[in-house]
Amino acid sequence: MVLAGVRGSQVSSDMAQTSVIDNAALQGLIDALTVQGYAVLAPVVRDGAIGLEPISGLGDLPRGWSDVQAPGHYRLEQGRCDPDALFATTVGPQSWKRFLHPPREVLWTAQRQSDGGFTVAPGAADAAVDHPGSESPRQAFLGVRACELHAIAIQDRVFADGPFADAGYAARRAATFVIAVQCGQAADTCFCAAMRTGPAAVAGFDLALTEFPERGEFLAAAGSARGAALLAGVARRAATEADCAAAQAAVARAAAMQTRAIDTTRIRERLQAQPQHPQWEAVGERCLTCGNCTMVCPTCFCTAVSDGSDLAGETAWRVREWDSCFTLSFSHLHGGSVRRSNAARYRQWMTHKLANWVDQFGTSGCVGCGRCITWCPVGIDITEVAGAFTAPEDA
Ligand code: SF4
Ligand code: SF4
Repeated sequence: MVLAGVRGSQVSSDMAQTSVIDNAALQGLIDALTVQGYAVLAPVVRDGAIGLEPISGLGDLPRGWSDVQAPGHYRLEQGRCDPDALFATTVGPQSWKRFLHPPREVLWTAQRQSDGGFTVAPGAADAAVDHPGSESPRQAFLGVRACELHAIAIQDRVFADGPFADAGYAARRAATFVIAVQCGQAADTCFCAAMRTGPAAVAGFDLALTEFPERGEFLAAAGSARGAALLAGVARRAATEADCAAAQAAVARAAAMQTRAIDTTRIRERLQAQPQHPQWEAVGERCLTCGNCTMVCPTCFCTAVSDGSDLAGETAWRVREWDSCFTLSFSHLHGGSVRRSNAARYRQWMTHKLANWVDQFGTSGCVGCGRCITWCPVGIDITEVAGAFTAPEDA
């Protein structure tokens, strides 16, 4: 495992970009980003879970909180981690997706004019959902985990480069500053190590922090020129070999805590070859088709577009909203839905995620964040379902 800025024998070559900062300096980074016009978004305790919201300082972070996650189960608790830890929780129900690919976006509005014509104006992400309490187009994500960096990279392939290239996404992405936080713990539902997306954050950030809560410090590694420039503006000291070793150990601990896994060896072929496997019916009998798994997933990107107008017919609009392949209407073609059973819809979701995504985008659609396991109301576990698809020659 190689951790940005803390590569054992290569520490000295990274040293120029690797520093140790304290909590006051982290507040300085937040202040500097705010002065530069960024809305700083970070984990906060909201309604008994970890949400992602604008913050103004360290006092908004979930100090002393940690999470307990299991299939269909999520609790925030205190007293299980260092009382001064700011980032002892893992991923919550929200992902950074909502700030780059908003749940609801007005694509355009049309307004009738007095001469009988109409004007069309471009729409915008719903600010109340996108940046509650903030109008800033610049956004800084503080506390992005390794799996989420991979999820953002996957969505980049879909929306920045792929057949669904989206100008709004590209603009929001360009205006985003990313501060990763290395995981020092894993939830029971995490399996990033098996998906090779974590727990070490190695790329895709401007800054990466590893928290040392017992001493109120962070190892800080720059991942871009603008990250290095921001770091240069706060009080810091050069990292020592011991600092880097401690950071490496923290991430190794998070990897060792993971008990779930998907064997990705030929998983694409295994799933695509077995559309009639009895596991689909078995999981279909449990699945409520509620769509929770798609809503919490940091890579699911499907949307539905609808048109509307006011009663007077003066204003019309087109809105794009997150949709889910678990709804009947999602696959409604002429004559009805082509995926009528729960089993068919679960099969569509998981086969797309783990197999067909590779054909489309050259990567798995799953980063092992475990959200779909935690937030499934009946505790369906994608690692358990995938484990049933052993190829005949593997049995
Ligand atoms: S797998 Fe779970 S979360 Fe997903 S649709 Fe079925 S019941 Fe809902
Ligand atoms: S499929 Fe589940 S574990 Fe994989 S990225 Fe989506 S929510 Fe996370």
